[in-house]
Amino acid sequence: MSKTVIVWFRRDFRLSDHTALEKAISYCEENDAEWMGIFQLDPHFTENIDLHHDYFFQTVAQFQNRCQKENIPFQIVYGHPIDVFEKVTDTLDVKAVFFNEDKAGYGARRDEEVCDWLKEKEIEYHFYQDYYLHGAQDVRKQDDTMYKVFTPYYKQWRTLKKPQVIQIDLKKVKNYALKISHSLNSDKEFKNVLEQCERDWKAIGEKSAHQRAKRFVKERLKDYDHHRDIPSLVGTSKLSPYLKTGTLSVRTLFHMVAENDNKGAETFIQELAWRDFYGMVHEEFPEFREREFQTKYQGIPWNDDNDRLNSWKKGETGFPIVDAGMRQLNQEGWMHNRLRMITASFLTKDYLIDWRRGERYFEEKLIDYDESSNTGGWQWASSTGTDAVPYFRIFNPTTQAERFDPEGTYIRKYVPELKNVPKKYIHQPSKMSEEEQKESKCVIGQDYPHPTVDHKEQRQKVLSVYKERT
Ligand code: FAD
Repeated sequence: MSKTVIVWFRRDFRLSDHTALEKAISYCEENDAEWMGIFQLDPHFTENIDLHHDYFFQTVAQFQNRCQKENIPFQIVYGHPIDVFEKVTDTLDVKAVFFNEDKAGYGARRDEEVCDWLKEKEIEYHFYQDYYLHGAQDVRKQDDTMYKVFTPYYKQWRTLKKPQVIQIDLKKVKNYALKISHSLNSDKEFKNVLEQCERDWKAIGEKSAHQRAKRFVKERLKDYDHHRDIPSLVGTSKLSPYLKTGTLSVRTLFHMVAENDNKGAETFIQELAWRDFYGMVHEEFPEFREREFQTKYQGIPWNDDNDRLNSWKKGETGFPIVDAGMRQLNQEGWMHNRLRMITASFLTKDYLIDWRRGERYFEEKLIDYDESSNTGGWQWASSTGTDAVPYFRIFNPTTQAERFDPEGTYIRKYVPELKNVPKKYIHQPSKMSEEEQKESKCVIGQDYPHPTVDHKEQRQKVLSVYKERT
């Protein structure tokens, strides 16, 4: 049996600019070994295939097909993490395991468990910071503590030299590939998962990710600064699902963007820094997903009203911009950033529903779901996080809509029952007279709901709840 090195793929389904893969190939060269990639198919994630998992597993399937076509050894092994490593090490003479680290949330707990087990079995393991441009330890205050505010964090982040793109020699990748004689593939279990996936995602995988990134940089980056806040335009990159599944490396993306000297590029790079920032906060504060970062806001008496929660989920709140955002999420598994802010603010400030319930719903639906960025966004909107919006700056859904979707173009796209409503009423359709409702084929209370809350009243309520704790 030849000496084997395992590359454990988890959220990095690509063959370019991949730290663990490059290190594994060098190890093979030096130690006369061969490598094989695995994906651990966890029973924990295969019971309920929601949109988020639908996209994720189809990405894994696409990667598997590609590897098969290109004679790259990659196997999908079903089971809990330790069971999978037992199976792999029982079958192969595993000398070392390489992976790109995950330092927060579920991934961090899983990695710790596997590393302990590998250590006990005296199998080498090597892990690398790969998901972020800068890991949590790279950007520190002078006293070596974490930054809690983004602006000074960013100031330092921007001065640091960015990691280079990692060149991978595909010839070597193939030369050192393990000639597989045992199949570890859990075909039955993975087939079962894929059968539950319903969506036909258009551009999935590494090749599409690169094409989209190139097109974005060429055509839209220069206007990013002006267009990124207008949800009816394709003004942002929509690269988040690729960054999340790792079909696009953040290093590759950064260098493509940094070659451009304009305001759009600078603003875009700042957004990539937010991604690093929330990753750092989550690593430093492991309970980030469960508890308010600002302790004074722990224990807020949230409203448990499930009817309201459901009308928010379905996009039937009676506030057109909120409903349009939620319907985009339900249909596409992606939502524009401005809408993520508006809908999260609405749930927590207008409905006074616990941000964790919203975070969990976004987890089910977002194809770019990222524990750290999502929690960061929710804690920002609910004013409980690091550097969050102050509690007294409460988004008014109507004025937000007037400002960012003045013509109602975005609203009409996702809330078709409001399609014929005149511009004058598009943000407050319940203000139409009976005659106008009939004319626009949108009877309020029948075709489209009355506003489910009075924003002004809710504003006062939420202000007093937060004020009590300040
Ligand atoms: P672009 O504007 O093109 O930005 C480029 C990249 O920068 C994004 O792909 C993303 O990786 C990063 N980025 C941009 N804005 C942010 C931000 N505020 N925080 C962290 N990273 C950012 N982003 C996720 O990737 N996953 C999530 O689960 C997620 N949940 C969110 C929940 C809420 C309540 C809020 C307010 C924001 C959330 N975001 C999340 C951040 C942001 O909305 C998305 O990254 C962005 O909408 C993705 O679209 P894009 O790729 O077109 O972004």
